[in-house]
Amino acid sequence: MIYDVVIIGGGPAGLTAAIYAGRSQLNTKVIEKLSVGGQILLTELIENFPGTYQMNSHGWISNLKKQLAELDSVDIQEDSRVEKIEHIADIFRTHVVSLVDNSKDIFESHSVIVATGAQPKRLGVKGEEAFIGRGVSFCATCDGPFFKDKVIAVVGGGDTALEEALYLRRFAKKITIIHRRDALRATAILQEKAMKDEKIEFKFNASAVEILGKTAVEGIKVKDVKTGHEEVLACDGVFVFIGFTPDTDFLRDSLHLNEKGYVVTDEHMMTSVSGIFAGGDCRHRPLNQVVTACSDGAISAFSVAKYLEKKKI
Ligand code: NAP
Repeated sequence: MIYDVVIIGGGPAGLTAAIYAGRSQLNTKVIEKLSVGGQILLTELIENFPGTYQMNSHGWISNLKKQLAELDSVDIQEDSRVEKIEHIADIFRTHVVSLVDNSKDIFESHSVIVATGAQPKRLGVKGEEAFIGRGVSFCATCDGPFFKDKVIAVVGGGDTALEEALYLRRFAKKITIIHRRDALRATAILQEKAMKDEKIEFKFNASAVEILGKTAVEGIKVKDVKTGHEEVLACDGVFVFIGFTPDTDFLRDSLHLNEKGYVVTDEHMMTSVSGIFAGGDCRHRPLNQVVTACSDGAISAFSVAKYLEKKKI
C-alpha cells in the first residue's frame, strides 16, 4: 500500500495534521517514537491555549486520540523510530525500526509530514548523567512528587524553567532558580508569579559547574559568571530546563536544516524537498507553543492535500 501521507511524530503538530488529513480522507500513517502525546505530556497544565482555562495536557491528548479513533483512514504506530526517508521517483520510503523488537519496516507514501518535535537540552556538566533518576530530572510532572518538602535547584531562565518551578513549588520546601544572566527570558506574567512566590528564589549570573552527591544529588556547584567565585548550593534535586534540540538528525542529509538543526520551511510548511512538509517544534519558527504546533499541523495537512491534488494523486 502507498499511503497518501506518512506523519512522523505524534505530538500536538503530528496529531493535528493527522486529524486534518483524516478528515480529508487521506490514507494516513502516523509513526511515533514513544507513545502519542509528545513533549506536552511532560507538563501538567497549559494556561495559554485560547478558549481553555488551565487545560490539562493528558486530558487534551486523550481527546485528540478520541477524535483520531473516529477517522478510518488514519493508522497510528507507536514505539517506532524513523531512521531515514528515501525519495525514489516521487515516492517517499520511510524506514522505521521498532523499539520493541528491533524489527524493520518501510512505509511508502506520496508525501511526508515531519513533526518530530525536540528533546530537552543537557547542561553537559559532571554529575548530570550519573544522577539522572537520582535527583537530576528534565520533567517536573514526572518527578515532582518525589521531591515533597525537599530543596530543588532549577536551571534555566526561560518559560519552561519558570513554569516548571511554579509547578514544583507545590511539592518542594524551597526552589532556587539558577540563571546564567541577570535578566530572565521568560514572559512577564511568569516572571511576576515566580518573583512573588515565597518558596522561589533566584541565583542570577550563575552557571552550573557540577552536580554533586554520593548515591543521589546533594548539591550543585555554581560559578558567578562575573567574579568567577564558585559555591555549592545544597539541594536534593536538580531540574534542568535550558531549552530544546530538534529531533532532526535523521534528516541531516535529506532536508535543508538551519544551523541549529531546525527544519526550514515556507509558509505552506513545505521543506526544501517538494512533497515533504514539516511542522511543530522541529521547524524553524519564532514561537514554540501548543497553539502554533497545532497551527503548523493543520497547515501542513492542508498543504499535503493541495500537493496531492496538483499531482493528481
Ligand atoms: P528557551 O526559551 O530557549 O530558554 C532557555 C533558557 O535556558 C534561557 O534562559 C537560556 O539562557 C538558558 N540556557 C540555555 N542553555 C544554557 C546552558 N547551557 N546553561 C545554562 N542556561 C542555559 O527554552 P524554554 O524555556 O524551554 O522554551 C522553549 C520554547 O517553548 C520557547 O519558545 C518558549 O516560549 C516556549 N514555552 C512556552 C511556554 C508557555 O507559553 N506557557 C511554556 C514553556 C515553553 P539565556 O536566556 O541566557 O539564553
